[in-house]
Amino acid sequence: MSGPVLHHRTRNFEDILQKSWAGLKKIFATETSVQILAGTGSLAMEASLVNVLSEGDEVLVINGGKFGERWAEMGKRYKLHVHDLKLEWGEAIDLKELQNQIRKAPQLKAVTCQACETSSGTVFPVQEISRIVKENSKALFLVDGITAVGAMKMPMSDWGIDVLIAGSQKALMLPTGLSFISLSKAAWSANSQAKLPRYYLDLAQEKAANDKGQSFVSAPTPLILGLNAVLQKIESVGIERLYERCNALQNSTLTACAELGLKTFSKIPSPTVSALTVPTGVDTTELQVWLEENHNITIMGGQDHLKSKIIRIGHMGDIHNDDMKALIAGLAEGLNALSGRETVSTTAVQAAQTTLEKSLRNSEALFR
Ligand SMILES: *Cc1c(COP(=O)(O)O)cnc(C)c1O
Repeated sequence: MSGPVLHHRTRNFEDILQKSWAGLKKIFATETSVQILAGTGSLAMEASLVNVLSEGDEVLVINGGKFGERWAEMGKRYKLHVHDLKLEWGEAIDLKELQNQIRKAPQLKAVTCQACETSSGTVFPVQEISRIVKENSKALFLVDGITAVGAMKMPMSDWGIDVLIAGSQKALMLPTGLSFISLSKAAWSANSQAKLPRYYLDLAQEKAANDKGQSFVSAPTPLILGLNAVLQKIESVGIERLYERCNALQNSTLTACAELGLKTFSKIPSPTVSALTVPTGVDTTELQVWLEENHNITIMGGQDHLKSKIIRIGHMGDIHNDDMKALIAGLAEGLNALSGRETVSTTAVQAAQTTLEKSLRNSEALFR
């Protein structure tokens, strides 16, 4: 990525593009194709709506947090008729209730869902939701897989997903700036009827260029070079191992944090990001800043009503065992420093480190 910048309309770069599309198609496990967009994940969220829907269309948004909310807001701005299925952050979805909601709206054109709701560290049962959508409606099923695709199993065609999106800086280990989107055959037929205005986000236009081996507008070549490198690495280690690694990191994070007295926030914790509550008396925003300033470790706090109440630890992608050890040590130190007492005992820290050692013993980082 730091090499000389390639021009996007060159043989050399077009070869990189072909390889990137092929690699993405595998990770998405889609029968169709994946389009690359020059913009972050939210752009792909917006692209998914404008490419398959028309003004006034009914959309059911499974809204379990910040990103579910974003889809609802976007839908309203595009004058879609949004049915907002609000869930408590971190709670499991009631599938019976979902089925009722879908049956009550026979005109439903789409159902949206996050594979992982990053704001609460919650994973959704995408395959089951897909089945319920298909059995009870003609709606398309749109999935935001930004903190899922590349880190956990999400086979688009097998699971009946109609639009699947991913982002560069989350599970795909790249800087921000790219997002990825795939439309199923059904979504492509909806695309030809969909009347919401679009130009830069017109996926049919992009796909037509892709079919000729090009991007429609100038491509951000350094980012796509990086993407191609990541895809090659994934290919060489095997995607299944990446999923296993992510699970191992989740298990070790949750158990080690429990030893420190932190509680798992979500009822259905995500394999890619862990949300935890900390012992009372510690403001999690302060803890986040403390870790950054004292150990150069970056975690996130909560958003909206969870601000200062939870921490979120990302463990998708290229996370090394030493990173986790440093985090556990830093967390314990920070909790004690900020509470002004021994919130976490030395014995607890040792127990957590031992737990971590054990649970990560057979799981090494996959990239060097
Ligand atoms: C980060 C994230 C987004 C938004 O992506 P941006 O790259 O910030 O635009 C959307 N959905 C989920 C689940 C995310 O984690």
